[in-house]
Amino acid sequence: MDKIIDGKKAADEIAQKLQGTVASLKHVPVLQVLVLGDNPESEIYVRNKKKRALEIGIKVNTTYLNNDVDEEEVLSLINTYNLQPEVTGIMVQLPLPPQISYSKVVNSIDPLKDMDGFSEINVGKLWTGVTDFIAPATPVGIMNLLDFYHFDVSGKQSVIVGRSNIVGKPLAGLLLNRDSTVTICHSKTQDLQKITKQADFLFVAIGKPEFIDASYVKEGAVIVDVGINRTKEGLKGDVNFTSVLEKCSSITPVPKGVGPMTVITLMQQIVNTAKLREVNG
Ligand code: NDP
Repeated sequence: MDKIIDGKKAADEIAQKLQGTVASLKHVPVLQVLVLGDNPESEIYVRNKKKRALEIGIKVNTTYLNNDVDEEEVLSLINTYNLQPEVTGIMVQLPLPPQISYSKVVNSIDPLKDMDGFSEINVGKLWTGVTDFIAPATPVGIMNLLDFYHFDVSGKQSVIVGRSNIVGKPLAGLLLNRDSTVTICHSKTQDLQKITKQADFLFVAIGKPEFIDASYVKEGAVIVDVGINRTKEGLKGDVNFTSVLEKCSSITPVPKGVGPMTVITLMQQIVNTAKLREVNG
């Protein structure tokens, strides 16, 4: 296998399989996206999702609400989508405007339609080892990528740098469910290098361009760089790719590493949900 882990190739192959599954469904899966405010970053993410969805045969409905939208209006809209049988899944694009409660919004989504897996019910299921949960697409996408290239984390030391609800924490749960020995680091961690240098698998999600260099890495480690940082020199990960390349055994590049896996995994979760709903009636 190539030292550079090709997320685009894996995502394209998964997309092909999903196309086949969608073709066998009775109804077209529908993703309802809710965008609050006019964040240009959100627009990029929504566009990427729509492009993949179209290719696979998933319909995406996007509703845009003003930045000063009332919380009640958002909750009432989510409730409408919860009740619509044609809506397979719901996503509320982050970040939310300050007057809108994250907790109220994510927990108002029917857990079976919660495509981001942010609701407390889905988070709880992930951590209690129940299998029928939906987890955030980025960490699930990372696990899909590791599976695609036959990496086995069982019994290995996994170190995650970053403890967000979107990446670090759910990734820890997923790795633990696969019998990895997991350490989570964050901005208050002391002697970070000492810990990261123990990692067989090093996952970095901090949002700091090229922060992790060879001095943080054990010889032969597998590095998963989740970071997406827009800099003057272009898109950069959280890992200094050039510095670590020689030392690691494998690494995900930025772009074309974790990014495409996030989008395709979201699609996979929609298709799986649609399929399950047709089977269960
Ligand atoms: P957050 O800002 O929510 O979390 C960052 C985490 O990194 C926090 O836990 C923070 O610690 C920790 N951290 C920050 N600085 C340091 C440091 N110097 N040493 C150790 N830990 C540190 O970010 P996200 O998890 O949402 O995103 C992280 C990165 O991943 C971003 O670049 C983002 O763009 C990217 N991303 C990429 C995705 C993809 O599809 N590829 C999807 C989602 C995110 P503390 O908790 O103590 O503040």
